[in-house]
Amino acid sequence: MVVGLVSGRLALVTGAGSGIGRAACQVLSREGATVIAADKNYDAASETITKHIALACGANDIGDHSAMELDVSNGKSVQNMLQAIIAEYKTPPRIVVNSAGITRDNWLLKLSEEDYDTVINVNLKGTFLIMQTFARAMTEASVAGSIINISSIVGKYGNIGQTNYSASKAGVVAMTQTAAKELGKFNIRVNAILPGFIDTPIVKTVPDKVKAQMLKLIPLGRLGEPTEVAEVISFLSSDKSSFITGAAIDVTGGF
Ligand code: NAP
Repeated sequence: MVVGLVSGRLALVTGAGSGIGRAACQVLSREGATVIAADKNYDAASETITKHIALACGANDIGDHSAMELDVSNGKSVQNMLQAIIAEYKTPPRIVVNSAGITRDNWLLKLSEEDYDTVINVNLKGTFLIMQTFARAMTEASVAGSIINISSIVGKYGNIGQTNYSASKAGVVAMTQTAAKELGKFNIRVNAILPGFIDTPIVKTVPDKVKAQMLKLIPLGRLGEPTEVAEVISFLSSDKSSFITGAAIDVTGGF
């Protein structure tokens, strides 16, 4: 067994088929957690387990890690996943990472109602459904836990073309702070991370001109790597952060 920051703990990561979620799976497993990689794209989540975690551990063995199909914006899908996890592991996860997220960018004046709703449903309602379902399961099983919600720095400052996205991410911070206040008495900590520009597929939709302007505003002069966010996720998952709850931590290279 790997001895690390979160040895022996069960961790659920949403959006685990790509980017920050995939990196979180790698780092949490390196630190000794058993990882459930959940994503809308089952094949991608499965690849996280069979290729990326196995490689990172230097083994071909996927151990007790598993992949699950999940649509965070759908309450039934979230409930089905909880039942599948309890059936397989006999306990709810102690670590829950909400990394599933999408963009549908457009100018405020052109943004469709559908694109507004889609982004709010995945990024904000999805975070709510996962938090409510798994915090409930933790309290019922008397399990202490740590929930980490991936917001965004644009939730704090706004960003051109991201009315829907920035609103969803500001909501995630407010939701995190409220959940932390309500769940502290159950020994469940809830924190948010606000990444800046991280080199993942989601950033590929940002026009090169905008990206070049953004780079000038980042004191460290580069995009972040998904692992640099995942290391903070691992810290917040572990007892090293035992007195931190309701926090919103920027991981932006100084942006
Ligand atoms: P990513 O590489 O696109 O990963 C997001 C993953 O979430 C994808 O695998 C995606 O699947 C999945 N997903 C989308 N909708 C879902 C749903 N309804 N249910 C379950 N899974 C779903 O993006 P990322 O950069 O890693 O982003 C992870 C989180 O960080 C997001 O919340 C994002 O908003 C936030 N963030 C990212 C940055 C950045 O610069 N990268 C900055 C700030 C915040 P599909 O690919 O099939 O859609």
